[in-house]
Amino acid sequence: MELPTGLFIDGASRAAHGGGRTVLINPADEQPFAEVAAADESDIAAAVESAHRAWEGGWRDLAPGKRTEILFNVARKLREQVDEIGRIECLNIGKPIADARDEAGLGARVFEYYAGAVTKFFGQTIPVSRGGFDFTLRESMGVVAAIVPWNFPFPIACWKAAPALAAGNCVILKPASLSPLTALKLGEIAHAAGLPPGVLQVLPGSGSAIGDALVTHPLIRKISFTGSTEIGRHIMGLAARNLSRVSLELGGKSPNIVFADADWQRAADSSPMSVFANTGQDCCARSRMFVERSVFEPFVERFIAATRRIRVGDPTDDKTELGPMVSAGQRASVEEFIADARKQGSVVASGGGRTHAKGWYLDPTVLLGVGKGDRCWREEVFGPVVAIVPFDDEAEMLREVNDSPYGLSGSIWTSNLSRALRVSRAVQSGVLSVNCHNSVHVEAPFGGFKTSGLGRDLGMAAMEGYTELKNVYVAD
Ligand code: NAD
Ligand code: MN
Repeated sequence: MELPTGLFIDGASRAAHGGGRTVLINPADEQPFAEVAAADESDIAAAVESAHRAWEGGWRDLAPGKRTEILFNVARKLREQVDEIGRIECLNIGKPIADARDEAGLGARVFEYYAGAVTKFFGQTIPVSRGGFDFTLRESMGVVAAIVPWNFPFPIACWKAAPALAAGNCVILKPASLSPLTALKLGEIAHAAGLPPGVLQVLPGSGSAIGDALVTHPLIRKISFTGSTEIGRHIMGLAARNLSRVSLELGGKSPNIVFADADWQRAADSSPMSVFANTGQDCCARSRMFVERSVFEPFVERFIAATRRIRVGDPTDDKTELGPMVSAGQRASVEEFIADARKQGSVVASGGGRTHAKGWYLDPTVLLGVGKGDRCWREEVFGPVVAIVPFDDEAEMLREVNDSPYGLSGSIWTSNLSRALRVSRAVQSGVLSVNCHNSVHVEAPFGGFKTSGLGRDLGMAAMEGYTELKNVYVAD
């Protein structure tokens, strides 16, 4: 395994200008295993200027067919390295190897999709009332800052970079300081695949140290951010300065609604991984479960049995389903939530503690009797914790579902078609799944309502978000 160690600027790996370094620690054994350069403000300035030159100097005006060819080549090279990328992610953040490999493949598929989209993305001709000829153009913006979190580092980096590049922009990618490795790998691979220097640059570094400088740089035209609602709000405030465009993919507190008329056994078997996958560090985690009262008890029993079958352990083992949490701090914050739930009188029906002597492991935790005002009900835990409550009345349940500042994702289980459609329209969230838990499709828009975000990733909606819309009128 060859680990990147520098910043990726202007087509080459470099030390940080100020010599900054970040030590990376393997979450599975708590041992340091690598050091990576940490960018400072002068690195940001150099990279943004280089990106702007690359945009004006050619990427913006490259023939669409040529851009397609290069992006397909990136996708092909990513496919060749899916195993390597998976192994690196597994080591870096403790993600189970099978998941890490799947996510590497997803990243490649995202590049394939947007490589093909370059030549299938166009403006309109509009019959304006005064006659003449009116048409629209979708133009690139310039330099885009893509700021990504540590929970799905590689696919999120790809699903921001690929559409932005396909639309003709240059990209500065800032991975989370905990998870810089696969983003750097993406920069190297894309460059080796023919992406010109400066078109995609990768600058690891601490968000609190360099984030503001990146976001407010006058040559940054758009900020595409995935992370917490708190930092999203901060970034949107800063973006007001230059009226930079923003898209924000933020936190969630997603519901999982099981009606008694559903195949509730299948729901009970599959729902644990809808909240515990990636050790609960998932913005789409279905962390609030509403189960119709007539099946509540057998459902909970079966849900807990399925939870206890989940294989928690060594992330490098192909059979492992859940690895450790990403950091000691992240685990401590989840443990505080669990302690608060106990104090408020919730019942810990399964899990609640640590499973391993070494590594930042936490047992998947099932809470019953959580009050609707408790922290575990209202706030994003971002760890393997679910609260399951019974409901009697559909309308009252939907009021509770929507009584949340968030609105990202959710699942609905029912065999009644009218109910599925009615409830799908009633739930205030950007993404829903019926009789399954799939939130992410390369081809479909992904994003949130309310404080879960602004704008959309993936699908053609993401590509629109990386363009300006120009209207041209030609007199007769
Ligand atoms: P975070 O907000 O702490 O950090 C996200 C990124 O922002 C990191 O790269 C960080 O370094 C950077 N950052 C921090 N301060 C900054 C600043 N002042 N200016 C610019 N950048 C700054 O989030 P996290 O802890 O890495 O990730 C967990 C959060 O991400 C959760 O809330 C989760 O729900 C959310 N998330 C959302 C989605 C989605 O698509 N909606 C997907 C994954 C994660
Ligand atoms: Mn954070």
